[in-house]
Amino acid sequence: MKKPFRIKKIADKTWSIEIKTAYFQGLVYLLEGGEKALLIDSAVNIPGLRELVSGLSKKPIELAITHGHLDHIGSAHQFGRAYVSEADSEVLQRHTDPAFVKAMIADEFPPIMQKIFAKIIKEMTAPLPPTEWLPLPESFELGGRKIEVIKTPGHTPGSVCFLDRGNRLLFSGDTVCDWGVLLHFPEGRPPAVFLDSLRKLKALESEYDFIYPGHHGAPSGQGVADRYIACAEGIINGGIKPKSDKSKLVARYKDIRITLPKRWTANDR
Ligand SMILES: [Zn+2]
Repeated sequence: MKKPFRIKKIADKTWSIEIKTAYFQGLVYLLEGGEKALLIDSAVNIPGLRELVSGLSKKPIELAITHGHLDHIGSAHQFGRAYVSEADSEVLQRHTDPAFVKAMIADEFPPIMQKIFAKIIKEMTAPLPPTEWLPLPESFELGGRKIEVIKTPGHTPGSVCFLDRGNRLLFSGDTVCDWGVLLHFPEGRPPAVFLDSLRKLKALESEYDFIYPGHHGAPSGQGVADRYIACAEGIINGGIKPKSDKSKLVARYKDIRITLPKRWTANDR
């Protein structure tokens, strides 16, 4: 079987680990300081993630999660405990509940697809061993390396980015990805809330050179935050009309897209 991990050193004592399986692609990041190491996100449940990161850093490893979705928390149990925003506690509860995940898959994929991917769905909906969930602090001190937590609600209420000013890196989870950001889930916040978060990241732009997201290409292309801001502004002021696509609405601007719930109207902001 093909190994699901692709490791890349992206800065001094900093690695990206791309995880690719039959049904998932995503990125987690390992940041090492003088005393501790921090793993950002834990993807889906991938056996061996803990061993892999322990091979990269001998320091004690803390796990911090950008948001409570199942494809970011799946391997958290391998670390025993993990930090996640308290604002995502409800999301976390749902996404660790096999019955909820099953219903979500049934909603997103037609029955024929569910039949074809039955084995994968079984894997995705297997109950996870327990994890101790801790509230995110304002920052992590790794020993000569401080990682700040930047609250960026939108994709979920408790979504955060992690800023490493010393190395000029921003880790954005699903708040900014190259291809699109999803606001159409029940826990998605309105575009105006997401726009505030994007403006917060824009205001910090002089503090980072690269954005490392939770999925797809990394680092993100230049000016991606500006294009998201333009897209979110367009949705809010009516300049961009979201188009219907199955269970959601999709607003497009240049190379990116923002999804919205089907029931969303411009009056909702
Ligand atoms: Zn997500």
